[in-house]
Amino acid sequence: MNVYDSNRILDLTKKINYFPTKNLNETNCYILNTCHIREKATDKVYHDIGRLKKEFRNKKKPIVLIAGCVAQAEGDILLKKEKYIDAVIGPQSYHEINKTILNLEKNSIKINSTEFNVIEKFDELNIIRNTDSKISSFLTIQEGCDKFCKFCVVPYTRGGEYSRSINEIVNEAKALAENGSKEITLLGQNVNAYNYQDKKLSNLIYEIAKIKDIERIRYTTSHPRDFSDDLIEAHGKCEKLMPLIHLPVQSGSNKILKSMNRKHTIENYLNIINKLKKVRPDIKFSSDFIIGYPGEKKKDFEKTIKLMKDVKFINSFSFVFNKRPGTPAANLKKINDNICKDRLKNFQDISHKIKKNYREKLLNTTSFVLFENLTKVRNSYFGRDEFYNSVIVTSNDNLIGKIKKIKISDINHNTMFGNINNEKKNFAA
Ligand code: SF4
Repeated sequence: MNVYDSNRILDLTKKINYFPTKNLNETNCYILNTCHIREKATDKVYHDIGRLKKEFRNKKKPIVLIAGCVAQAEGDILLKKEKYIDAVIGPQSYHEINKTILNLEKNSIKINSTEFNVIEKFDELNIIRNTDSKISSFLTIQEGCDKFCKFCVVPYTRGGEYSRSINEIVNEAKALAENGSKEITLLGQNVNAYNYQDKKLSNLIYEIAKIKDIERIRYTTSHPRDFSDDLIEAHGKCEKLMPLIHLPVQSGSNKILKSMNRKHTIENYLNIINKLKKVRPDIKFSSDFIIGYPGEKKKDFEKTIKLMKDVKFINSFSFVFNKRPGTPAANLKKINDNICKDRLKNFQDISHKIKKNYREKLLNTTSFVLFENLTKVRNSYFGRDEFYNSVIVTSNDNLIGKIKKIKISDINHNTMFGNINNEKKNFAA
């Protein structure tokens, strides 16, 4: 979502003549869009500002803005501790960015803009065209969360659940298609909690699927609690909907899920997976796991391993529990560090093995790849298959924006390599 927000921030600043540059040296305004989900996010901000100060040691300093969830959660502290920062802007206030920059051009009063103005924000964004011109683009449809998992900062930094109107979203999707996008990933902290005047995520997917030039649709991140039957059905009906679902589970133990306030059980979770497999047998899953959550006993951890082995997630993102300030779980007693590290290693060894087995089976098979860009190697194109696996292919033809049937000839840990499959079809009557 931060990628989407950063693009939209740049769409806004262009209106006041501030254009993106990759050259730090020439910047008049430095905007750092931050994420607060992991540990040390604030340290990273200070580190980045230190780098900036060095760069501008002998020059007039640029206007310095900190945007995103660190600004929301720790804005006052940032402004107090680091005088180099001129303003903090929360994720629901970034439509104020031009006003903030123009104010700072005139005077040097520190600005804290961290109101939860999500409706105003999207009203403002709707009238500014999304100029993202990537083959695969992000589109925010929903923000915020009402679930309050005990370890998570999102409900405090992004606010409650809010869904944009179907019209706004479809118009933005059409603009992205006109800019050349072929794939759209619908974004939300709880994307499948999308609900606008009783229209759900599945309704929105069918609407976007009507846009001729959009060939692929993905969405992230889903919550098991909001995985309704109509969405499951859409996976069987809508060919443009890709067969990989990122469905965070966090733990394989019902006891831990309850203490996390996840609002779902492992039985609910497996039920969703089984229903999805019925409507789309080739569907695959990825997930997030917190290892060593307070209270996790060996037998709870073993249940997480069992879940990993049963579902065979093709990708998993696992971290040892870390305390996020201001969340209820920050007050819980942490498990011994060494135990957590051992469990994480054990878990990741198993998940890597599952991923490796899955990928090895793809060798010499064919898949449909949407090509996004050239790599640094001449005539070598990067794309993704339906399951979001990275694929590189060499071709004399320009493949960007095209979907090709590719035969996989080589695989390493992160990338697959292949050739365009020109096999002729044989016909029999
Ligand atoms: S559902 Fe997701 S975003 Fe919401 S509180 Fe839980 S982990 Fe955070």
